[in-house]
Amino acid sequence: MGIRQGSCTQAGISQGFVEAVGNTPLIRLRLLSDLTGCEILGKAEFMNPGGSVKDRAALGILLEAEESGALQPGGTVVEGTAGNTGIGLTHLCNARGYRSLIVIPDTQSAEKIGLLRSLGAEVRTVPAVPYRDPNNYVKLSGRIAAEIPGAIWANQFDNLANRRAHYASTGPEIWEQTGGRIDAWVSATGTGGTYAGVALFLKERSERVRCVLADPHGSALHAWATGAGLKAEGSSITEGIGNSRVTANLEGAPIDDAVRIDDQSALETIYQLLWREGLFMGGSVGINVAAAVETARRLGPGHTIVTVLCDSGDRYRSRLYDADWLASRGLSQPRRERVPA
Ligand code: PMP
Repeated sequence: MGIRQGSCTQAGISQGFVEAVGNTPLIRLRLLSDLTGCEILGKAEFMNPGGSVKDRAALGILLEAEESGALQPGGTVVEGTAGNTGIGLTHLCNARGYRSLIVIPDTQSAEKIGLLRSLGAEVRTVPAVPYRDPNNYVKLSGRIAAEIPGAIWANQFDNLANRRAHYASTGPEIWEQTGGRIDAWVSATGTGGTYAGVALFLKERSERVRCVLADPHGSALHAWATGAGLKAEGSSITEGIGNSRVTANLEGAPIDDAVRIDDQSALETIYQLLWREGLFMGGSVGINVAAAVETARRLGPGHTIVTVLCDSGDRYRSRLYDADWLASRGLSQPRRERVPA
């Protein structure tokens, strides 16, 4: 990779968007740490310049495509995405002189779709259909890329540049920030890039780091990871996580345990993060942090557990933070208790 994520040519100065990706803080979640007797730490990926953990994958994919010569000046980057990868890619395309064409299921939040348009992506919203359907957004994006001269397909699910970016940046940052004192790594997976890249790096450093896959309902990965095969039950309002298949990025990643979290628990978690920690977070963070708390319960006090704060609540204000929308999905908006002085 020509440009290292988070590297600076001059102390304190990042060369543009590209070098501002990564080197995010690791935030101790005070309330949950106190409650469990563990150190529960969240990697603040919402602080990336494009606002999510997916900036790292987008950058890794783009740099590898440039290096291989597949992406030439003025070229187009095409991707099927739940939003965040498209947002990261579009920022990078703007910064490096490419066009972006984003295929996104129409079930994703209006905030993400609107933001993609504001950033200048060509956005095609498509009906959400299962992966086995040829019109699934991922497959459709691959076909569109093949039809446009000078276009590349980012292919985040099966392009290993995704997990390589996390192996090269997120993993080492977590290891350094904890001084190697980490007992468990907990993360949900969409493409699997974050989970697998970090898990592979940490296991290489220390066999005893426990890698725990977090999963929402409606995803087949919890059953798969616990030996029951690829089976999904129920559904989830979370976006960008869960899968019906094992992607190339997830394949071969170490998995020591798996935790499934329901939507109401994820909601309670993000509202507690907002009211008690001052952190305004998206839904996948609720799955991650609730799974980190469950992992703390399983391991007992005295352990250090790291998870990911993937993106901000701003991307879901009309959904996760709207009582009527939640009620329409059979969920109740958590009620704020009086915060002790
Ligand atoms: N959380 C959010 C909000 C996301 O958009 C994504 C990416 N789809 C993830 C978590 C999961 O990341 P990954 O694709 O690396 O598994």
